[in-house]
Amino acid sequence: MFRSLCSSFSLSNKTNHIASVLSYSKRDLNICIVGSGPAGFYTAKQLLQKESNVDKVDVTILEKLPTPYGLVRYGVAPDHPEVKNVQNDFDSIASDSRVKFLGNVTLGKDVRFKELSEMFDVVVLTYGADSERSLGINGESLKGVESAREFVSWYNGLPSHTTPETFNRYRQLIETSKKAVIIGQGNVALDVARILARPIDTLKCYDLTSQAINILENSNKTLEHILVVGRRGPVQIAATTKELRELTKLNCLYIDPTQVKNEYIDENSKEQLEKEGRAKQRLVQLLQTATEKPTLDKDTKLVQLLFFRNPVEFIPSKSDPSRVGSIKFEITLIEKDPKGGEPKAVGSGIFEEIECDLVFESIGYKSVQADTDIPFDQKRGVVLNEFGRVINENSQVVKGTYVCGWLKRGPSGVILSNIYDAEETVGSILSDYSESKISSSTVDSYSKLIAHLQSKSTQYITFEQYKKLERHETEEGVKTGKIREKVLSVEEMLNVCFN
Ligand SMILES: Cc1cc2nc3c(=O)[nH]c(=O)nc-3n(C[C@H](O)[C@H](O)[C@H](O)COP(=O)(O)OP(=O)(O)OC[C@H]3O[C@@H](n4cnc5c(N)ncnc54)[C@H](O)[C@@H]3O)c2cc1C
Repeated sequence: MFRSLCSSFSLSNKTNHIASVLSYSKRDLNICIVGSGPAGFYTAKQLLQKESNVDKVDVTILEKLPTPYGLVRYGVAPDHPEVKNVQNDFDSIASDSRVKFLGNVTLGKDVRFKELSEMFDVVVLTYGADSERSLGINGESLKGVESAREFVSWYNGLPSHTTPETFNRYRQLIETSKKAVIIGQGNVALDVARILARPIDTLKCYDLTSQAINILENSNKTLEHILVVGRRGPVQIAATTKELRELTKLNCLYIDPTQVKNEYIDENSKEQLEKEGRAKQRLVQLLQTATEKPTLDKDTKLVQLLFFRNPVEFIPSKSDPSRVGSIKFEITLIEKDPKGGEPKAVGSGIFEEIECDLVFESIGYKSVQADTDIPFDQKRGVVLNEFGRVINENSQVVKGTYVCGWLKRGPSGVILSNIYDAEETVGSILSDYSESKISSSTVDSYSKLIAHLQSKSTQYITFEQYKKLERHETEEGVKTGKIREKVLSVEEMLNVCFN
């Protein structure tokens, strides 16, 4: 407040000095949050809510894409619009006068980490997980061995994944596949299975891209069977009852009875089931209702969960050796963890080959080091931290630098998990602030950043400009009865935002 009054008057050098001393005593906190997914927005929300602990906060949110919301826009399945409603909460945060959003600005490219640290009192890294884990087994580079993350990004319209080459690749693969195998049994694997399995007419009203609708519509003529394979058993499945129920409701789920019926559950899993209680027992009971092959509705594909299989090799197809034709699996057994953790899958020495035309690996997302100056644990794929405070290799705190979300704790947890995570990180920021471990400045960090971006000719997008894009997408969607028709290239997005 005081600072903005000062800027309205032309003050002499002397009064300027007094103003800066007074302003310093008020100790404004200039914070830059990098990444506008749930972790970024919940960090901003907590900071605004707890402003009374500080004199004033100014939050700048940087985002690599012209659009905010991270995986809520480009990860969450299009047929889960109720989940995407969290954007309304994020909109009210972005519209707060203390918050500024700058889209189309990439940390590590348009601005370096060191530069941001010099401009702002606090930098909070919340840039998520932009890469994925791979199995690292033979045959992984065969045509038809795809990443589930890339497929999800494609059907959700992430600009880098909607090029004509990607479109042609998926069209060629999906339209010539009878059987697809998804490796992994988490929520992303089930999203992919459901999007492939659902009758396309039931998807057309959502914001699935027209590209994806076009290809999935044609897949109805070929794709019949989707196998979702996990290393462990039904008791250890990572998916939730809600996600599995969606498949049973579609009447397309099948599990071989010898994999899930009580009389076949191994002793270690039985013990785990007893320990974990009712929620897990209900989940297993739900799986046990799917042990008869369903009579499929028109255009629905069969989704089969297959347990106790560890992929060891992708084998080329005999008719086209450049493309995957089958997967070699080692059958696994469930063994107790001597350390008391969840039972583990161990190899049995028995192998099995399963034919397929298409594979999606869905074994986890992974964060990247966006800038070489960010202390990063390459093995775990997270920024080194203690309670959200970034630390270097020698466990020393990097002053004024914090982390939150998937980048902090690894790629697990739902949108709401980021609220608790943000509470911890903001708790660390405020505690460091109260102990004067963070310097608070009088400079207008935001203006400094804008000057920097202008000097680099970066075409940044404000929140109001993004809202123009959103209106445009909604209007385009109305024309075809969809929630929205997403713009698929950054260039076109910028055109809409700037015109
Ligand atoms: C396929 C999928 C489906 C999911 N479905 C659900 C669901 O139905 N319900 C649910 O509750 N949770 C769901 N989740 C989990 C949820 O999406 C995550 O918990 C959440 O998005 C993680 O938030 P984040 O902010 O850490 O990361 P993100 O959401 O990934 O946000 C990170 C942001 O940082 C930006 N960024 C990246 N690099 C840079 C850079 N160098 N400079 C600037 N910005 C950068 C990215 O563009 C992105 O906008 C799903 C996750 C996935 C992958």
